Amino acid sequence: MSVESSSHSETVTIDTVREAVAKLLPRYRLALEEFARIESVSWPSFDQSQVQRSAEFVAGAASALEIFDGGVAIVHAPMGDSTELGQPAVIARREPKNGAPTVLLYAHHDVQPPGDESNWETPAFVPTQKGERLFGRGVADDKAGVISHLAAIEALFTIDPETPLGLVLFVEGEEEYGSPSFANLLKDQRHLLEADVIIVADSGNWSTEIPALTVSLRGNATLKVTVRTLDHALHSGMFGGVVPDAMMPLVRILGRLHNEDGSVAVPGLTSSSAPVPEYSEKTLREESGLLDGVSPVGHGEFLDRIWNQPSITVIGLDAPATSASSNTLLPEASAMVSLRVAPGQDAQAAAGVLAEFLAQNPPLGAQVEVEIVGSGSAFKMESTHEVVGRIKSSMKAAWDVEPVDIGVGGSIPFIADFVEEFPGAVVLVTGIEDPDTRAHSPNESLHLPTFEKAIITQAHFLAGMGAASAHPAG
Ligand SMILES: [Zn+2]
Repeated sequence: MSVESSSHSETVTIDTVREAVAKLLPRYRLALEEFARIESVSWPSFDQSQVQRSAEFVAGAASALEIFDGGVAIVHAPMGDSTELGQPAVIARREPKNGAPTVLLYAHHDVQPPGDESNWETPAFVPTQKGERLFGRGVADDKAGVISHLAAIEALFTIDPETPLGLVLFVEGEEEYGSPSFANLLKDQRHLLEADVIIVADSGNWSTEIPALTVSLRGNATLKVTVRTLDHALHSGMFGGVVPDAMMPLVRILGRLHNEDGSVAVPGLTSSSAPVPEYSEKTLREESGLLDGVSPVGHGEFLDRIWNQPSITVIGLDAPATSASSNTLLPEASAMVSLRVAPGQDAQAAAGVLAEFLAQNPPLGAQVEVEIVGSGSAFKMESTHEVVGRIKSSMKAAWDVEPVDIGVGGSIPFIADFVEEFPGAVVLVTGIEDPDTRAHSPNESLHLPTFEKAIITQAHFLAGMGAASAHPAG
């Protein structure tokens, strides 16, 4: 056994881990391809038997490891307050020994719909390698996350068959569909999910050369604002210029949402503060496709705007299409407003602040109705627990370069559910994606060397945790 009892970063040598992972990798690469052929789209309009098949695939692979003495189960929970059940999740548990901690490894086995197949250069559900990348729907998000957990666990037991570490593999089946039964699942299966450390493998790295720990995610909220001015439509020649149509106050309300520079003008929506890496306007223009002459919005460092500040976007309007327009004063018009909530602010509170702002001082006394359609919480890792340093030193060892802390402008609301249900656990958000992964888009792909490094990182982390609890440093 290559485990020593010296200080924790040295307890397991990275070469031992690399060797163990290299031996397992060809088999897990094939498993990933087989897994990615299963069209496990969790949307109700797709064939749901495929989601069941992918859950069975995960359960089978977990059972084959023969280390889960607490069992491997496929479980369902009701969605929200309804009696309808959500998609199948897989939970496998191994109890810790001698007071060692338990690490929960999270990923999801469902995938986004493929979208228009004609936009794919290779078939979405036929994993195809080109150069260092494997293309296909879900090969990265998040089937590589699932496989990286399985491979890291097998590597751990190759390196240290006697590890006292407790382990939970938790693979959800509806993340892409908004995890409607997730909160209930956590409550129902609490006894199986109890853990000290939660590793979420569903985020990305700074690049294919530099690993990252995701330390913040913005939350989100969606609000619908409806404006009414008349009890029926009117001829614009008869009454135009004397009574307002609904669009007039609506555009004024929407116009209040931003300052002149495009930053959010709603008092009470807070920002967070955290250092951000360098990101130039040139890169921003290239990556976003911003047109010549159009200026970016907001102020501060670009990544600070995306990671640490709120943003508001009007994402839909209910008004006649231009092709169906006529000379009419509209009695009613609606807009859908999407809010990204800065880390550190409660999403429901932020939605309330925005709802009040939209409804206050209605222009021309128009009737304004605001509905909060939904919200998801932000995440901010504030922990200084030693496992944070430990995962970073495993990243450094596996990648041979210092990792960076990143924020993410998007949202993974289920992480807040974890934090709420297990307030004592440290949540580490990692992932196998890189900036070219194109998760959710056509031609999604996995960078294969990144996949290997992610497995090495995790195996090194788990082996180190196990060794440290078997031989606590004096
Ligand atoms: Zn994902």
